[in-house]
Amino acid sequence: MLLLKYLRRARWPLLVTMLTALIGPTPAATLVRPPNVLIIVSDDVGWGDLGCYGATKTKTPNLDRLAKEGMRFTDAHASASVCTPTRYSLLTGEYSWRKNTPGLNKGVANADAPLLIPVGSTTLPGIMKKAGYRTGVIGKWHLGFGTTRPDYNQDLAPGPLEIGFDEFFGLPATNDRVPTVYVRGHRVVGLDPADPIGYTFDPKVAAAGGLVRWAAGRERIGFMSGGKAALWNDETIADTFTREVVGFLERNKAQPFFLYFAPHDVHAPTIPHPRFVGTTGLGNRADMLSELDWSVGEVMKTLERLGLAQDTLIIFSSDNGAHPTHEAGHLPNGPWRGKKSQLWEGGHRVPFLARWPGHIAPDTTSHDLVCLVDLAATAAAVAGEKLPDRAAPDSFNLLPTLLGQPQPTKRDSLIVMSGNGDLALRQGPWKYLPDLAVADGWSSAAKKPHQPAKPALYDLSTDMGETKNLIHQQPEFAQRLAEHLEKAQSAKSTRPPSL
Ligand code: CA
Repeated sequence: MLLLKYLRRARWPLLVTMLTALIGPTPAATLVRPPNVLIIVSDDVGWGDLGCYGATKTKTPNLDRLAKEGMRFTDAHASASVCTPTRYSLLTGEYSWRKNTPGLNKGVANADAPLLIPVGSTTLPGIMKKAGYRTGVIGKWHLGFGTTRPDYNQDLAPGPLEIGFDEFFGLPATNDRVPTVYVRGHRVVGLDPADPIGYTFDPKVAAAGGLVRWAAGRERIGFMSGGKAALWNDETIADTFTREVVGFLERNKAQPFFLYFAPHDVHAPTIPHPRFVGTTGLGNRADMLSELDWSVGEVMKTLERLGLAQDTLIIFSSDNGAHPTHEAGHLPNGPWRGKKSQLWEGGHRVPFLARWPGHIAPDTTSHDLVCLVDLAATAAAVAGEKLPDRAAPDSFNLLPTLLGQPQPTKRDSLIVMSGNGDLALRQGPWKYLPDLAVADGWSSAAKKPHQPAKPALYDLSTDMGETKNLIHQQPEFAQRLAEHLEKAQSAKSTRPPSL
C-alpha cells in the first residue's frame, strides 16, 4: 500500500482515513501514486531573462506557461553566484561553504575534480531513492568524479550513481571546458580505446604533452588530446539532453520518479542550434533562451503525452544570475544590480517557477525568500520522507508555501556566496555585505593587505539597485546581522528541526 504509506508520511491523515474507508482492500497504488518531482536548473539564466519576469524581447512561452499554471517566486536565490557550489547545495541541502574544499568554498570545479559530494552522505536523490523513486540526472554535472583526478578513459566512479542517482547522462563540467564529451553512467560515450582522452588545465603540462585548447571545433578552458570519436557537437547539446529526458520519462512512466535536468543553456560558449539563431534579435545568448524554452516545452509535452502532467511537480530555476547585464535593451538580471559571481542581487537572485496541477494554485506569486538549497527538504516532504536530523542542514521545506498553506518554517534569512567564496546575508528585505571590496566577485580589484573591511547595508524594499548604503544610519542593526552571519557560519545547521 504505497499510497497509504506515502499519505501517512506526508501527514495527510484525514485523506488516509477517507481513502481507507472508500477503497477497502483495493491496491491503492493502482489508483494514485506519490507525485513525480522534476527539477530543471538552467545555467546562467538571469532573473530578468523570462517573459514571466518582465522580459519583452526574449521568447519564453513555455516557461511563461509554467508560471501561468503554477507559482512564480520573486525572491528566490541560488546559494552561490556560480555553478558548482549552487549545484552542491541543491543536491545536499547544505551551504557549500561549510566544506573546506575548492569548488565548494571558492570558485567552481574543473573537470579534474574528484567527486565533491561524499559517498554515504544524505542527498536529495538518495532521499528520493529511499522513498521508492527512480532517480536520474541529465545534463551538466560539474561536481566531479572519482576519488582523485578522474581518468576519462576508465570508469568515472564514484560519481552521480554513487550518491543516489539510478541514471546519469551528461557533461562532465561545463560546455566551455574540456573534455568535450558526454558521460553515461560511469563511461564516456563513444570513446575509441585506441584514441584515449588526455587533458590538463596546466599550460606547461599541455605544452610538454602536445595538448591543445582547441576541442570539438572551438577554444575551451583547458587542454585536450584524443577522444575524437566521442566529441560532442555544441549545436546539438540541447537536442541530445532533451532526447535523453524524454527517454527517461518514457522508461520510468510507470513508477514515481525524481529527475534533475540540468540544461547547458545558456552558458558560454553560446552556440544555439541553427534553428534558434536569430529568434530574438538579441544575439546568441538570448537565442539560447529560445532553445531552453523549446526544451522545457518538449518535456512538458512529453509529460502530457504520457498522462503524467497532473502527477508531476516541476520546478524550474537557474544556478546563478546572468553574466551580461545588458543585451540590446534587454536586462538579463532585470532591475537587480550586478551579475554572475557577484554578491549583488543580480549574481544570485534567479527565476524560480513551480507547477503541480491541482496542488499549486495557477498564476500565483510568492514573495517569500527561498533558495535552491531548500529543494532537498521540499522534495523529501513531497515524497513523504522525514529528513534525518543532521541531513540537509540548511534546507527549508517549501511545500506548505507551494500548496498555499500556512508556512510554519518560513525562511527568514539566507546566506549567499560569491564566485570567490565571500558571503553576504539576506534577512527579510535587508542585505548585509561584510565587505564592499569583494562584492564584485570575479571583477573585484585585488584587496590590499591589511585593508579594513567596509561593510554595507541595503534595504531592497526601497532600493532595488543596492545603491544606498545605510550602514552609518543603522549601525546597531548591521551589527546584529553581522553576528547572525557569524553564528550561522559556526553553527552546523540553519534549518528548523524536522517535524
Ligand atoms: Ca552557472
